[in-house]
Amino acid sequence: MCGIVGYIGHREAYPIILKGLKRLEYRGYDSAGIALFDGTDLKLSKTKGKVANLETKLESEITTHGSVGIGHTRWATHGVPNDVNSHPHYSNSGDLVIIHNGIIENYESLKKELIKRGYVFKSDTDTEVLVNLIEDVKKNEQIKLGKAVQIALNQVVGAYAIAVFDRNKPNEIVVARLGSPLAIGIGDDEFFIASDASPFIEYTKNAIYLEDEEMAIVRRDKGVKIRKIHDDSLVDPYVQELQLNLEQIEKGGYDHFMLKEIYEQPSAILDTFRGRLLTNEAIIKMAGVEDNMKKFLNADRIIIVACGTSWHAGLVAEYIFEDLARIPVEVEYASEFRYRNPIITEKDVVIAISQSGETADTLAAIKLAKSKGAFVFGVCNVVGSSIAREAHAGAYTHAGPEIGVASTKAFTTQITVLTLIALRLSRAKGTISSSDYRHHLIELELIPDKVKKALESDDYVKTIAEIYKDVHNFLYLGRGYNFPVALEGALKLKEISYIHAEGYPAAEMKHGPIALIDENMPIVVIATKKGHYEKVVSNIQEIKSRKGKIIGIVTEGDTQVKELADHVIEVPETIESLSPLLTTIPLQLLSYHIALMLGKNVDQPRNLAKAVTVE
Ligand code: GLU
Repeated sequence: MCGIVGYIGHREAYPIILKGLKRLEYRGYDSAGIALFDGTDLKLSKTKGKVANLETKLESEITTHGSVGIGHTRWATHGVPNDVNSHPHYSNSGDLVIIHNGIIENYESLKKELIKRGYVFKSDTDTEVLVNLIEDVKKNEQIKLGKAVQIALNQVVGAYAIAVFDRNKPNEIVVARLGSPLAIGIGDDEFFIASDASPFIEYTKNAIYLEDEEMAIVRRDKGVKIRKIHDDSLVDPYVQELQLNLEQIEKGGYDHFMLKEIYEQPSAILDTFRGRLLTNEAIIKMAGVEDNMKKFLNADRIIIVACGTSWHAGLVAEYIFEDLARIPVEVEYASEFRYRNPIITEKDVVIAISQSGETADTLAAIKLAKSKGAFVFGVCNVVGSSIAREAHAGAYTHAGPEIGVASTKAFTTQITVLTLIALRLSRAKGTISSSDYRHHLIELELIPDKVKKALESDDYVKTIAEIYKDVHNFLYLGRGYNFPVALEGALKLKEISYIHAEGYPAAEMKHGPIALIDENMPIVVIATKKGHYEKVVSNIQEIKSRKGKIIGIVTEGDTQVKELADHVIEVPETIESLSPLLTTIPLQLLSYHIALMLGKNVDQPRNLAKAVTVE
């Protein structure tokens, strides 16, 4: 998830782009870059790190003069965050320059073709492939930039918001969108391009939001012309009047980053399996797994090391790896593992999970595992992070930056990646039938829409939050795949509302926590149809007999739990192994609303930090 900005008009472009990039830094800050056209020449400066670094570097490197330019703040998906991988990217001739937010899924095959035709690549990005593809089309067909962009995009699979500039046609910028946002601000003979309206809010309140599969040629003198990328039909521009203020725009109109990130989960999960889950071909494509298949298949066991929410994702993975791939799994707190002289052999595969990729204990656990000869596979959200570099191989979650301290979309995207790995291994090992395997792929592909559906419970969850916000204790219960979800639900509530909460395997309740239950105790019970349903219903009966208040998380259409529970929140039906991706949604919302009603700082809860880089 990167931030893109562009300007074409009569003012100096540099201060507008620079300020715009600073406002878009919530979208990523691995690197930043700006290209400006000063009337005769194109000047480009880019660097690793935040926009503030770019400012210092750029002003000493190039003249900042020019009334057209584009800028980018990157959240890396392909290629580590360094100067070379930073955007903008030049085409081979140096005529075209591009900024891009998204992922070009088929970049490898396109790159191979372009290399055959003599193109050379400086960076590891998918973006540099796209700009050269556009150049190739433009050169071969002898056509204008807009047409070349259109033809090139028709060869591309993936997601993008792009802005392309041709130094030989300095009066226009070509933009396009599929899956990543792009807004065009309309001023008086001036136009602004950005991932959201925050970079241009003080210049104009009029904006066009491009729809998916639309592209626009933005001309200084002639305005904006929009077309459909696939069928070339012209689209009437719909100019909206912006009502939002700056802060609301950065948070996408949400009150908090946490809520925004909860709502981003359908697209974050989709981005995470994009290009990896090929349902029609019944293939899962993950280079990190494929290249190390022998290590996985010969493993005596998998040891998962993680902390906090990532540890809960690891617990979900334990169920799915053992269930589908029949590989023994142990899930360890990294902080315990690293200090307890664990038995690790060369036949162990260690999977380390961390959103930031900087978690100190997890990093130390990796180093220990490596020193004993184990193969280490990292699952991180931040490209080029310490854990990503330290691991032998890995797979990124493509969740985009997570700003809220309480992890939400990182959790569900970690489960998505781990599920993909488990499915790939179960296929390779032959522990899953081809029909069951296909069924899993189809169900996984449906998950983003089902998460959207699960989010519809928001208003109802809010009414439940209102009823229980003043209690001092909560209990969360689940079985099987949903036991880790119970733990995660309790953790979310603790983290941001400071209410004491415990997660427990539902059947363990009678070995202790049942003593806590009285008429003042709310108990969240995850009781989805698939997976020990009858057993959980019995547990609910036990709670009911002790007058506990039951909040059931149930499958759509449930009737049995509905009769027993004080409240039920429905989630769509799916297969058991994928149910955590849905049942976790209302629990995130419940903790959010309770914390908000109690007046807590939802995005920055006390005593916590986003990346725990100390042990
Ligand atoms: N795929 C591009 C890169 O890695 C853009 C990243 C993004 O928008 O998330 O540079």
